Amino acid sequence: MTERFTGSFTQQEPIPDDAIAAAVAVLRHGRLHRYNTIPGELSETALLEQEFAALMGARYALAVASGGYAMATALRAVGVGPGDVVLSNAFTLAPVPGAIASLGAVPRFVDVTDDLTIDLDDLAAKVGQAKVLLLSHMRGHVCDMERLMAICNAAGVTVIEDCAHTMGAHWRGLPSGRHGAMGCYSMQTYKHVNAGEGGFLITDDAELAAKSVLLSGSYMLYERHLAAPGPEVFEALRLDTPNISGRMDNLRAAILRPQLGLLPERVARWRALYETLEAGLQGANGLRLTQRPSHEDYVGSSFQFLLPGWKPQAVQVLLSRCAARGVELKWFGADQPMAFTSRYDHWRYATPVALPQTDAVLAGLIDLRLPLTFSADDAALIGRIIRDEVAQVLAGAGPLGVATRAD
Ligand SMILES: *Cc1c(COP(=O)(O)O)cnc(C)c1O
Repeated sequence: MTERFTGSFTQQEPIPDDAIAAAVAVLRHGRLHRYNTIPGELSETALLEQEFAALMGARYALAVASGGYAMATALRAVGVGPGDVVLSNAFTLAPVPGAIASLGAVPRFVDVTDDLTIDLDDLAAKVGQAKVLLLSHMRGHVCDMERLMAICNAAGVTVIEDCAHTMGAHWRGLPSGRHGAMGCYSMQTYKHVNAGEGGFLITDDAELAAKSVLLSGSYMLYERHLAAPGPEVFEALRLDTPNISGRMDNLRAAILRPQLGLLPERVARWRALYETLEAGLQGANGLRLTQRPSHEDYVGSSFQFLLPGWKPQAVQVLLSRCAARGVELKWFGADQPMAFTSRYDHWRYATPVALPQTDAVLAGLIDLRLPLTFSADDAALIGRIIRDEVAQVLAGAGPLGVATRAD
């Protein structure tokens, strides 16, 4: 009997009951705007920021409308302006170059390695071209952060971290987002806590924090923040910083607060799913698994593997054979961007320069989500199906009868 998977790769868990109750309470009193408080009341948004700062061990935190908005705000806060070059990963999601472009700045892409982290040799070669690196820990893969910070510090380059896939991850015990000047997170439905949309910004720098609060649209109500610097820091900035509204609201903050406490347990469950799938694919012919360094304490909310040297037609055959058995794989080698998956050379507004090493990696890069609605049995079944179908395609079972190898 041919096994088939019937779960949904896009179905997250429901919002926890206590988060629903907190959201209903906000709806009942009607004060959804973060600065709409009654005397003595602390808003859900201000409390959420305080709790997130504590969780990350950061001095300051700001909640905003999206992860993309958090990154654009961080870039503005560190002084990026029109025409400035900002280094970033060639392998990332569209909102990352989009945040750079939203300031009229110019993304310059750095290669990816076949372990899916930023290529630090290519970074060292390009670091002199910019004052800022927007580092994306894409799909949760964390590079050697000591070496990255050494390269950037030596060149006077400010690092902003995109931690959309590393909320809850650590490098040598330090939370992801705590190495650079600022860390940015997303609370969009597919990330590690779910408010539909949302973003966090963290930093230890008082001036960057105050600028970010003002930029996010605090009017002159910044004293109602619980994870921001004192009013004296704002005094010097408030008349020189534009209001670019992108605030978090109390409804989404209420949904998020109980989820922060669940993060460690969620990370453990993601790790279990990831490790089950990884064990199922270990040693399979024709595919390569990424090597994860021992200093990296990752989350594992998605899984990637490489089909090194495969022809595009063979990859297509594998995708359709897996899809026929209920396993939805995403491919970073497609000519056209599809749904959430796009490539640096699709971002034409950024006038990307060709990166042959990155092209070779992305040509064979397969990606799948591991939502927490999956069980360990599901992860094992997905592993068996992929392993089996890779073997079938290698044996020439594709309807096109394609050879797998490009050479
Ligand atoms: C989701 C995501 C973001 C932020 O996206 P928003 O949809 O704006 O919250 C940033 N970087 C990466 C790599 C992402 O996947």
